[in-house]
Amino acid sequence: MSEVNFEAIVIGAGMSGSWVAKELCDNGVKTLLLDRGPEVKHLRDYPTASKYPWEFEYRGALSNDHVKNNPIVSECYAYKDGATHFFVEDDVQPYTQRQPFEWIKGYQVGGKSLLWARQTQRWSKYDFNTPYTNQFGISWPIDYDDLAPWYSHVEKFVGISGEKDGLDVLPDGEFLPAKEITAVDKHLRSIVKENYKDRHVIYARCAHLTEPREIHRKQGRGQCQNRTVCERGCPFGGYFSANSSTIPWAQRTGNLTLRADAVVHSVLYDEQTGKANGVKVIDANSKEEFDYYADAVFLNAGAINSVAILLNSRSSRYPNGLGNDNGLLGKYFGFHNYRARISADCPGFEDRVMDGRSPTNVYMPRYVNINRQSETFKGAYGVAIYTARYRKQETKRLGQDLLNDLLKDKNFMPWTIYSMMMGETLPKEENMISLNENKVDQFGIPLVHFNVGYDDNDEKMMEHFYQQWEEIYDKAGFTNIQRIDTGQPPGRDIHEMGGARMGKDPNDSVLNKNNQLHTVENVYVSDGACMTSTSYQNPSLTYMALAARAANHFLKSRK
Ligand SMILES: Cc1cc2nc3c(=O)[nH]c(=O)nc-3n(C[C@H](O)[C@H](O)[C@H](O)COP(=O)(O)OP(=O)(O)OC[C@H]3O[C@@H](n4cnc5c(N)ncnc54)[C@H](O)[C@@H]3O)c2cc1C
Ligand code: SF4
Repeated sequence: MSEVNFEAIVIGAGMSGSWVAKELCDNGVKTLLLDRGPEVKHLRDYPTASKYPWEFEYRGALSNDHVKNNPIVSECYAYKDGATHFFVEDDVQPYTQRQPFEWIKGYQVGGKSLLWARQTQRWSKYDFNTPYTNQFGISWPIDYDDLAPWYSHVEKFVGISGEKDGLDVLPDGEFLPAKEITAVDKHLRSIVKENYKDRHVIYARCAHLTEPREIHRKQGRGQCQNRTVCERGCPFGGYFSANSSTIPWAQRTGNLTLRADAVVHSVLYDEQTGKANGVKVIDANSKEEFDYYADAVFLNAGAINSVAILLNSRSSRYPNGLGNDNGLLGKYFGFHNYRARISADCPGFEDRVMDGRSPTNVYMPRYVNINRQSETFKGAYGVAIYTARYRKQETKRLGQDLLNDLLKDKNFMPWTIYSMMMGETLPKEENMISLNENKVDQFGIPLVHFNVGYDDNDEKMMEHFYQQWEEIYDKAGFTNIQRIDTGQPPGRDIHEMGGARMGKDPNDSVLNKNNQLHTVENVYVSDGACMTSTSYQNPSLTYMALAARAANHFLKSRK
């Protein structure tokens, strides 16, 4: 093949795109993987991974000036001194908005797979059915049984730590052993079991290698060491990132060409064949333009950028964006409502302390609106639960006195609990992303414009969560119960979904059941843009399973 001709092009070398590339390369397809960000090579490009706190100028905190200049990305909890280089600063790719939206970006080979919190819960049959049983949006063209084998396929390779819970609302996967949970987690679990038949406190499944298998060793990855500085890149490959796993795996097949610093401007459309035939790329450094050609194009640039690229792919056949005959591209954009939290103190465990660190927590899967809409609001929510007992940070003294203070056994704060609602938001036509026709970025590409907001359903769901969890905390004997509404705008959840939803009917959806554009079948959108509804689980496991499934559909169709 020449330097510009490939069998497949994948746009975006992050969580989902690296899965497409791996599947294609494993099956002999000459694949070009493009990413707008710089190369980040496993081990070589983790400059802060092994630094001690005192090696950072502000001990890991950000300077006031830095926060002032980056008000959006600084709101992300993982945006710390050791990880800023894996995030995009606010002025690099500006955007416009009708209502506040916080767009948190990670542009590099590996994308946000370097930064994620590695929570990996499957969807259940109820989640795929919620639009039907709760009467909103459109029905999914696939169901749990379509995705279940792809969940297993991905989980075995990624390595997921979990417990077999046997719940049909949160199906079990292919699990490695779980890590330990705290004494307060165990107490909460038994109180919930005693009092509620329909609710379960379970270990939050996560993409960490607690006991690496042969397949993980083959990837060159080792056991998680519980250092909990994952967002700096993990030299052990203890958690799944595209950099430590799928990308080097695809490279070893000899079928992958990886091109970093390649900003995809648009997908090229051939009016004669009625198919896409490649992509137009701008070099991020020299701003030179290139065209690359292939039989199929996969969009995996993250939901927002995949939709933006399609909207910017204009031809006389598709003046409003590729595959956008019905004008729905960019509409029904979704996110998760993470505003509602509830905290409390947990007396009665003063004889217990936490020893070491854990990169995960406990979790309560959905418990309402399962077979039908049983509450005043539509949709599902789950709950992430964090319990902790920290040491007091007594730093007023110096020298031996300071050391004595830090070493005092009894120098602990009380146990506390903090639970966060992870709420489904309803797909709405007015929640949309579009291109700003009057403003362009440094590459001459139109800026993204957001019009995304909460609605009354979100408020009702939050009230339900607060009431239910005040009751649960009360039954558990927790005190000082506080409701919290962070008031955060959509986007800070970093679960971007929809904009090119899948559906059965080309009149009300953009993609078919195989993630292909309804009218341009050699273009696959195989990241979160395809989501028909959002349910409540952290979405990346589902994105990876959908990406692997779409890649294998292409492989099958070629045969
Ligand atoms: C702090 C944090 C915590 C998170 N925690 C979790 C969690 O616990 N569980 C979970 O499921 N999810 C979590 N997420 C979300 C998760 O990271 C995303 O869902 C996931 O990375 C999305 O995969 P993707 O392939 O769509 O996008 P990404 O992984 O972001 O990859 C997209 C890639 O496309 C590239 N790109 C973009 N535009 C272009 C263009 N025009 N041309 C070329 N390349 C382009 C980008 O540079 C990027 O590398 C978290 C995210 C963050 C930041
Ligand atoms: S917690 Fe595990 S995966 Fe995260 S950085 Fe530490 S060793 Fe790596």
